[in-house]
Formats: sequence, structure tokens, C-alpha cells
Amino acid sequence: MCGIAGVYDAGGEAGFKIIPLLAKMQNRGPQGAGVVSCDASGAFHEVRGSGSVEAVFNSPEKVRQLPGRFAVGQVRYATFGETIQPLVWNQQGIMAALTHNGEFANAITLRARAEEQWGYKFQSTSDTEVLIPYLMYAAGETFEEKLLEVLQSAIRGAFSFVILYDGKFYCVRDQYGFRPLAFGMEERLNIVLSESSAIEVLGGRYITDIEAGQLMVIGPSGIEKTIQWAPPTRKSCIFEHVYFANPDSYVERINVSVARDRMGKILFEESGWVDADVFIPILDSGLHPGLGLYEAMLEYAREHGKKPPRLKAGVHRSWFLGRTFQQEDEVSREVLQRVKSSVIKPWVEDQRVILMDDSIVRGIVTRIVIQLMRLAGAREVHVRIASPPPLYPCGYGIDTYKDELIAARLNGDLEEVRRFLGADSLCYLSLEGLYRAVVGAKSPSVRGEEDFCVACFTGCYPIPFEQNRLTKPKKRGTSIFVPLTDLS
Ligand code: SF4
Ligand code: MG
Repeated sequence: MCGIAGVYDAGGEAGFKIIPLLAKMQNRGPQGAGVVSCDASGAFHEVRGSGSVEAVFNSPEKVRQLPGRFAVGQVRYATFGETIQPLVWNQQGIMAALTHNGEFANAITLRARAEEQWGYKFQSTSDTEVLIPYLMYAAGETFEEKLLEVLQSAIRGAFSFVILYDGKFYCVRDQYGFRPLAFGMEERLNIVLSESSAIEVLGGRYITDIEAGQLMVIGPSGIEKTIQWAPPTRKSCIFEHVYFANPDSYVERINVSVARDRMGKILFEESGWVDADVFIPILDSGLHPGLGLYEAMLEYAREHGKKPPRLKAGVHRSWFLGRTFQQEDEVSREVLQRVKSSVIKPWVEDQRVILMDDSIVRGIVTRIVIQLMRLAGAREVHVRIASPPPLYPCGYGIDTYKDELIAARLNGDLEEVRRFLGADSLCYLSLEGLYRAVVGAKSPSVRGEEDFCVACFTGCYPIPFEQNRLTKPKKRGTSIFVPLTDLS
């Protein structure tokens, strides 16, 4: 998962204006950030680096290196390869910059074929780069024809991408619509990006989503054309609603906070009442479902004459480190978690605690927080999780491996998971409940359950993918930058 964006600014400051958008989408990838801008002469300029947006764009100098009315950018979350995008290329008469969120399901085959057929020498380990040779050698007169040819006959899988070419953004979403892509405008700005809520950062307003199977061409005047290049078979990632997206974003025109609140309420229906003294949502991903569950609990307490727990911010979080889920290896993840989360003793000492979070993926976060609670004197810790246990890896842009999913490691035995965590009780939201929460949030874009991918819970993958996701590679390698000069 990454955050991608393209900005057209009639005022010539696209390279400057795209940076706050990327910062707002930092939740989608803290491991790297990059921007490529295009000036009036058509020349590309780039700044990229490892770390947060703030760390990469750490001086006015960096912003001055990005002149022009067009810019594309990315915050990076590593999946396949180690390249910080946007990729740029200038070959066979095509000069373009590309940023991609997702994962091409057939990248390995496409890569081998491009090497064999055209002797193409790949400059990076990124799956995204396969687009370049296929676009270069595609049949068709215009760039648009070439792109349509590649979409219809070469790439498969999960992709939302934006290509800046010849003063236009070519914005594409795969036919399943795994990853979101939205379009917004302000008087002098056109904005395409992963998260609708970031449009407001620049005072813009949301106009529409790029729909599953669509190519939208956006120029200085706005949307120039929309082409349905494949019939939509929507399989929108349900985990966007559980965890990935910002709570103020709309995904498939469903407000993410509303969906999370519903997850909490339905989880209470499913898990029922437990006597407790304090209710603690883990910030920040547990907050929105946590408030939903707490509200349902208060109502139940009123109706049944029970004493509700107090709502307390019993886990303090340091905000200036990346999201734990996205750290690259287990040791640094664990150390980071200890830096990030601390338990506030007066709220938990001698108390029966309900601890709420959005999901348990590897289990490290929850386990450490429970240990800290015990150390602070908690008598009981009851864990409530607003999604089902992930049992299968994702092949569509999320970097999880079967051997690191705690519920999969313990063969789906949830009693074992409870024991691993050290909790007194553990309840997950059912898949049925998750569907009810998201589909029931009612959106004109959603017909029903069939519109969502839930493969990490069920193992029913909408499309096959090539990467081996059973065992995480031991060594992940270091970042390989793709400087403009190497590709031109
Ligand atoms: Fe989302 Fe899970 Fe499907 Fe991956 S497998 S796209 S994380 S729902
Ligand atoms: Mg969390």
C-alpha cells in the first residue's frame, strides 16, 4: 500500500502543493517519499528519499528543486522491490513519470518476458517498472492507445496509478478497484490521489472516484475523458475501511469513520457485555471502532441497569514514529512499539480493562500493550478487535506473509491467540459483522458484499498472484533510487 498523488497547479507551484497532500497520506507509507515535477519546457525535476515526508522535504531548497505546473508524488510502503517512486523514463519518444499503488499480480512473468523479448534492462526491483517496456513496445499510435493496449493485454492485478505524460495525467484503476483513487478540484488546481480527505488540505473539493476499470485523462482544464477499459468486477479492499485509510476519507463513497463506528457497535452485539472498570481504545486505529463499541455499551448499561466502564485514554502514544505495522522487520517493530506505546498507570492499576483495537495482524502491538498493562497492575484485560483474524497473506499491495500472521501461525486457533497475547478474553468481529458494518454504511457505489475483497480473512482470492507469500524473505535489501539520469 502506498499513497499516490498528481497535482496540476495553474500557478506553477505543483511541486510545492503536492507535499502537504503526501504528508496527509503518510499513514499509507512512512518508508519513503518522492516527487517529480514538470516545468514549462517539459523537463522533469525530482526529489526523493527514505523516511517520512517531513524528513525528505526538510528544507525550502528541496521544494525549489520542483518547479512547474505538474507534479506526481508518492509516499512509499514497501511491497515488491525497494524503489522510491515516481519512476521516470525517457525512451522511444516517451517521457513520463509514474506512481503506482498496489501490486501487479503477474510482474514476474512480465519482467522475464520483457528481458527475453526486447532485451529490456530493468533499472529497479520494482514491479511497477514492468509498465515501461510494455508501454514502449505496445502497438498503437498515441500514448493513450499504447496504454489501453497494455491495460487490456499485459498487466493484471491490483493497481491504481497515475502517469504524467505530455501535460496530462493518465489515471488508472484496475478492474477490481482494489485500491482507491479520487479526483478533486480547486479553482486553479486539479488533484488526483489515493485518499479523498487529502483534497481538502489544498482547499479543494472531491469530484469523483476513478472507478474500477477506468482510465481518466486529466489535463489543465479538468477531466478530459473517461474510458471504461474493462468491465468493472469490483473487489474493493475491505481493509482500507478497517485500518489503512484515513478516518476522514471516503472509500467507495463510504465515510471510513462511520464504517469503523459501525464495526464497533456490531462487535458489541456479537461479543456481548463484560463487567469492566475502564474501556481503553488503542490510539489511533482503535479509536473510531472503540467509540462505536463504547456507545453501544453505554446504551446497553442504561437499558439493563448495569454500571458501564469509564472511558479512558489509558495507552499513550508517541506520534512521531511511523505506524508499527509498516516497519520492515520484527525486531525494529517491537522496539518501536515500546517507544510508541506506554500505559498510564492510574487508569489501569487494579482495574478490569477492556482494550479495543481495529485489527490484530502480527499480534506484537497487542501483546506488548497487554504486558505493559499487567506491569501497571491491571487485574483483567479483555481484548475486542473490530475485524476478523487475518489468516492469509495479501497479494494486492499489502506486505504480509503467512508465517507472520499470528492467527495463521497458530492455525486459526483463537484460544491459542488469546494465550499468546496474554488476554483474559478475546473477541473478534465476524466477517458477517464486518460486511454488515461496511455494506450497511450505504453507498451508491456499493451493491453488496460481493463488491469487496476479503481474501486475507477467507483465502478466496479474486485473482491469482505470483509472488510467494508464505515465508517472509530474511533480508529485505536496501533502497535503490532511480535517478533521472540513469533512465534517460
Ligand atoms: Fe485488502 Fe485483504 Fe484483499 Fe489484501 S487480501 S486487498 S488486505 S482485503
Ligand atoms: Mg493499531
